[in-house]
Amino acid sequence: MSDTIINHYINGQVVETEPAQRQDVFNPASGKVSGQVALASPADVESAVAAAQAAFPAWADTPPLRRARVMFRFLELLNAHKDDLARAITLEHGKVFTDAQGEVARGIDIVEFACGIPQLLKGDYTEQVSTGIDNWTMRQPLGVVAGVTPFNFPVMVPMWMFPVAIAAGNTFILKPSPLDPSASLLMADLLKQAGLPDGVFNVVQGDKDSVEALLDHPDVKALSFVGSTPIANLIYERGARNGKRVQALGGAKNHMVVMPDANLDKAVDALIGAAYGSAGERCMAISVAVLVGDVADKIMPHLAERTQALKVKNGLELDAEMGPIVTAQAHQRITGYIEKGIQEGAELLVDGRNFDSSVTGDGNAEGFWMGGTLFDNVTPEMTIYREEIFGPVLVCVRVPDVATAIQLINDHEFGNGVSCFTESGSVAREFGRRIQVGMVGINVPIPVPMAWHGFGGWKRSLFGDTHAYGEEGVRFYTKQKSIMQRWSDSIDAGAEFVMPTAK
Ligand code: NAD
Repeated sequence: MSDTIINHYINGQVVETEPAQRQDVFNPASGKVSGQVALASPADVESAVAAAQAAFPAWADTPPLRRARVMFRFLELLNAHKDDLARAITLEHGKVFTDAQGEVARGIDIVEFACGIPQLLKGDYTEQVSTGIDNWTMRQPLGVVAGVTPFNFPVMVPMWMFPVAIAAGNTFILKPSPLDPSASLLMADLLKQAGLPDGVFNVVQGDKDSVEALLDHPDVKALSFVGSTPIANLIYERGARNGKRVQALGGAKNHMVVMPDANLDKAVDALIGAAYGSAGERCMAISVAVLVGDVADKIMPHLAERTQALKVKNGLELDAEMGPIVTAQAHQRITGYIEKGIQEGAELLVDGRNFDSSVTGDGNAEGFWMGGTLFDNVTPEMTIYREEIFGPVLVCVRVPDVATAIQLINDHEFGNGVSCFTESGSVAREFGRRIQVGMVGINVPIPVPMAWHGFGGWKRSLFGDTHAYGEEGVRFYTKQKSIMQRWSDSIDAGAEFVMPTAK
């Protein structure tokens, strides 16, 4: 048993907690407990909201350029400590270190975007909308805002939220996943070193209860959520009922279409990396290959061979391609899906349950290990096609043509990411136009939009109407005010009883 305690961070301080309010944190590679995370009580949430509320007026009044300078210092510190963050991710999540480095780098992109906040907030101005009258719009921060994040990106997903929220003048409460909470405190420490005033960034550790306390608190003005669809749906409804702004990003089932004219070697590389990278625990992982015409017959032997040959190892080993599954429960859930696939008649080509964990290195035998799994001849009514498995399982569906592929994808309840591999410009163009999915890749398997474009799926992959980060993120964390002014020397004498129009 480890004596590492991962506590809350409120008003610039780590807060000690009672032992009764804690939950074990595991190293998935060894299967051993690596620490304990605090679980916030309503009183802890109350004190975080109070600290954030107290810090808000001064922070909102701080000129955007000075807020941006804190972000610039944070950026420098992040670059200096990025491998510490990546290591913390690997130790609690299990993903391979190089992938964790990529996660941190994509989070840093958003901090760079947030450094441009003076430009993003500068508003619009129209002179002389009527004689002697000008009209302008400005965007002002909301107040205390909260972010609730999933286990699979403990650095990047919080960074989709707090850099933009804070740079825009809000104060922030992060509620990370209790499965890999350590990175949240590292980020809090770097923000403090960057000169962020106490109370502007706070962390409450915990699970359902702390999220519900945030959703019900009248001083929390907006909440960003990323996680599974059933929880995203609940969060959206409860937050909206309480009059808050909510953006709730949910689960996914991302398809990759391979056309007969595609470069098939590159398509196989893309499928292997996008299906099994991070053990399939990415919201943009490819979990369905849609193989058009004779593609399946050509690539299936290669896919099977590559799936079998994956280097599944402790993520700290630099040649590892895939690490363990995050928890024993997730391992069990994924195993259950593999059994279901067999029962429902899918053809199991590679069975990840047969993976021998002794090859993963000393002390790892009890870890949450599994190899890659590959199914062929999967059909749309099967559970393994319909539901998000969120593990290293690739299901292959055979279709006769691109129209059937598009229809299949459009009929799915999720619409997060999608990809099409083809050498035809007209197929690519038509695919991009007709597909009912929020983020589309053409010969790009995981099309996560850049920091200034914004991230968000369609259908039951996103509840709410603004995407995360980018300009939509700035809009989400600010409210627009319109000001119309004139001065007395241009005001006509006498009361006006008609609707004012341009004069
Ligand atoms: P999850 O839904 O179990 O948990 C997400 C967050 O919600 C955590 O902070 C958790 O503590 C909290 N939570 C859990 N149950 C709750 C409840 N009943 N009420 C309130 N809060 C609750 O998700 P996860 O397993 O941590 O993450 C994996 C899921 O996240 C997958 O479905 C994946 O597709 C999704 N995801 C989506 C995106 C996206 O951008 N759309 C990105 C990353 C992950």
